[in-house]
Amino acid sequence: MTASTREQDPVVLDALVIGAGPAGIGTALALSAVEGLTFGVLERGGVGQTFLEWPEAQTFLTPSFTGNGFGATDLNAVHPETSPAFSLGVDYPTGVQYAAYLRGVAKHFRIPVLTDAEVTAVERVDGGFEVRSARGPARTRSLVWAGGEFHAPRNPRIPGSGLADLARAPQAWMRRSGDVVVIGGYESGIDIACHHIEQGARVTVVDGATPWDAGSGSDPSFRLAPRSRVRLAAARATGRLSLVGSRATGIVRDGEDWAVRIDDGSRLRCSSRPIAAAGYGPGLGPVAQLFAERPDGWPELDEDDQSTIAPGLFLSGPAIRHGGLKFCFVYKFRQRFAHIARIIGERAGKDVGALEAWRAAGMLTDDLSCCGVECAC
Ligand SMILES: Cc1cc2nc3c(=O)[nH]c(=O)nc-3n(C[C@H](O)[C@H](O)[C@H](O)COP(=O)(O)OP(=O)(O)OC[C@H]3O[C@@H](n4cnc5c(N)ncnc54)[C@H](O)[C@@H]3O)c2cc1C
Repeated sequence: MTASTREQDPVVLDALVIGAGPAGIGTALALSAVEGLTFGVLERGGVGQTFLEWPEAQTFLTPSFTGNGFGATDLNAVHPETSPAFSLGVDYPTGVQYAAYLRGVAKHFRIPVLTDAEVTAVERVDGGFEVRSARGPARTRSLVWAGGEFHAPRNPRIPGSGLADLARAPQAWMRRSGDVVVIGGYESGIDIACHHIEQGARVTVVDGATPWDAGSGSDPSFRLAPRSRVRLAAARATGRLSLVGSRATGIVRDGEDWAVRIDDGSRLRCSSRPIAAAGYGPGLGPVAQLFAERPDGWPELDEDDQSTIAPGLFLSGPAIRHGGLKFCFVYKFRQRFAHIARIIGERAGKDVGALEAWRAAGMLTDDLSCCGVECAC
């Protein structure tokens, strides 16, 4: 290779993170603890973009509390030395508040984030990945997808589903009068149902799996969070909330109104478009083809949260699944930031000792067999 072509060689980073939500910023913070590692973050909007898009009335359901000094790191923190409760002065942050926390943390720890840099394509190349974004191409040895799930809401797979408003859309949160029907009764469905009850509407939630029942385990990924249960009890006490344990089978127009068909053959009339709260998919965007799929549709990962078909590509965030374990809350998926950073650091021949601070703060789980223990009472 001549000197002139060598000058044109692109810089190859040790790691590139896509997405500047809690997973992306949290992973980048762990990478920044490994001295000498070259890395950056590409974000299509601004830091915490998803949270800036949250409907105004939506808040966290996992509480924040500054327990850090006693080894109980704030549940919503993405770095061991930070606490949203401390920096924001609230226990259940809104989206705008949490985005402010993420921005503050990224600035304090000088995380290199390139905003307005939507990643549109990722290609495997010799020794790593070529990433194309709105800000141009980049090369990296390791790539971390932290693009989140908020942009991948699931529509219920029923005829007429296009007549529903998705629960993530601002119009679903606008004041509605008369009868409101919500399809889906897990966290998002109960959240928006309680919101409309608080606004004075009559609400029916329909879900054949009856997720509002207690469930058998203590894992909040499989049962409603305490905050949701408290709100649900208050909503029930108004007498304006009905919970229907049936499957929605279709949505039709009914004159000026709408109707949701359910599997016993009856219909639930609604005065406004039904609201679909059917959860979220993995939302892998430009890296979708670089992950194999598990039978349940979630990405297949090795024990290091790495793609089984594209080594060097890691997943950080709520789409992580290992066996029956779900990592869909910040306090869960943050357990893997330092693990991913350690693998990347070790491969680059760096000293990764500083990441032990994550373990000391209860923010590093590398042995997944210890997850999922049930509470005795
Ligand atoms: C409605 C709702 C409520 C929730 N409530 C809680 C809660 O109370 N507590 C909790 O712990 N968890 C909660 N969660 C779980 C939630 O998934 C996580 O808390 C969090 O948003 C996930 O973080 P993330 O960084 O993976 O994704 P996000 O916060 O969505 O961040 C992903 C980032 O990637 C960017 N991005 C996406 N695609 C690209 C691309 N192609 N190129 C560049 N950038 C891209 C996005 O703009 C975004 O900024 C909730 C989730 C939802 C949907």
